[in-house]
Amino acid sequence: MDEQSLLAFDTQHIWHPYSSVSSDMPLYAVERADGVMITLKDGRRLIDGMSSWWAALHGYNHPRLNAAAQNQLAKMSHIMFGGFTHEPAVELAQLLVQILPNGLDKIFFADSGSVAVEVAMKMAIQYQHAKGEAQRQKFATIRSGYHGDTWNAMSVCDPTTGMHHLFHHSLPVQYFLPQPNIPFNESWNDYAIEPLADLLERKGNEIAALILEPVVQGAGGMYFYSPTYLVKAQALCKQYGVLLIFDEIATGFGRTGKLFAAEHAGISPDIMCIGKALTGGYLTLSATITSTEIAQIICSGEAKCFMHGPTFMANPLACAIAAESIRLLLESTWQQNIQRIEHSLKQQLSPLSEKDYVKEVRVLGAIGVVEMKSVVNMKTLVPRFVEQGVWIRPFGKLVYVMPPFVIKDDELQKLTKGMILALTQEYLHHNERL
Ligand code: PMP
Repeated sequence: MDEQSLLAFDTQHIWHPYSSVSSDMPLYAVERADGVMITLKDGRRLIDGMSSWWAALHGYNHPRLNAAAQNQLAKMSHIMFGGFTHEPAVELAQLLVQILPNGLDKIFFADSGSVAVEVAMKMAIQYQHAKGEAQRQKFATIRSGYHGDTWNAMSVCDPTTGMHHLFHHSLPVQYFLPQPNIPFNESWNDYAIEPLADLLERKGNEIAALILEPVVQGAGGMYFYSPTYLVKAQALCKQYGVLLIFDEIATGFGRTGKLFAAEHAGISPDIMCIGKALTGGYLTLSATITSTEIAQIICSGEAKCFMHGPTFMANPLACAIAAESIRLLLESTWQQNIQRIEHSLKQQLSPLSEKDYVKEVRVLGAIGVVEMKSVVNMKTLVPRFVEQGVWIRPFGKLVYVMPPFVIKDDELQKLTKGMILALTQEYLHHNERL
């Protein structure tokens, strides 16, 4: 199909993430992607700054991941998980149990990040019910969080950016705490945990679980906060019988410099969600993991089982690729790689903090964020990035990069250079118009 017909049909018939059907936003047809390079249908090549939203750690079209997919495809791409098990699921589970924070060893495979969050929330409710605490029906979370687009996941997303007013009458009402206001690497002060202490003292026995993205808040604000918050939160949750859920869907598999962000705090949550980079960005797969103790309590309740079971649970194709992706990661010098990327991002993006349109530049692991003073114009800025040969997709006031870990120094330099040039042009242009 030629590029024009492809784009024309898409515009007429296909929704894109958070899009309007009458969108006039830039849309590009992709022909293929290899390593960190995305090739558009018109032949232009872009360096990938997004890892397809935290997912493609090893870059695209990776020979080892392709081979894992092909080998599995020759056996079976899917089989129901009710009454059957298979090597890809068991191998993946074995790898996960080895690398997950201590004590997390009961794995529930699901289809997507949002579903993993739904599963975690259901686990918390069933756990509390089994403990004779059926009155614990609510969840607590912090503002500026993002946990997915399904119903209950949405109820714990930031109420403003998640547009809770639109769903006002049908969305469960949850408890929102202020965003932890001590940034990563800044010294701790106990005042930051007081809102949680206060909430739990007043409403603790209504709350089933506290759900957080540990250390890095992703789509809700690209903000990095003190790991001590997690340590303090865990102690309070224990005191009040509230479970602690970590949503590591974005942070898992090395992105923040640790294999899982929980490691920055040196703690294990009661329940953890992973997804996105689990399959190296090849297919959708997620998992919700808890401890043996919690799993046993859940299964000792009225239902005598955990009440969830998706059709495509533990899809063999996705599991085989995920297991190979984890092996690839563990065989690589990923820590050094992340340090190298972090160091370069800090060096290369820091000049932007001098610009009058920039509020702050922050870098953690392989995540570089430029927070602008005002909301960016996607319609003009994204084409400027493309002109510079880079793929960066900002949202709101945030322009950020989180490239595949395999990005080389010269490619990273081209990425940040392209980002800076595009921003400089965008804001020159704006100034001229003022
Ligand atoms: N939790 C977090 C922290 C996420 O970043 C996302 C996706 N952006 C989700 C949950 C939802 O995952 P999915 O889009 O796979 O449903």
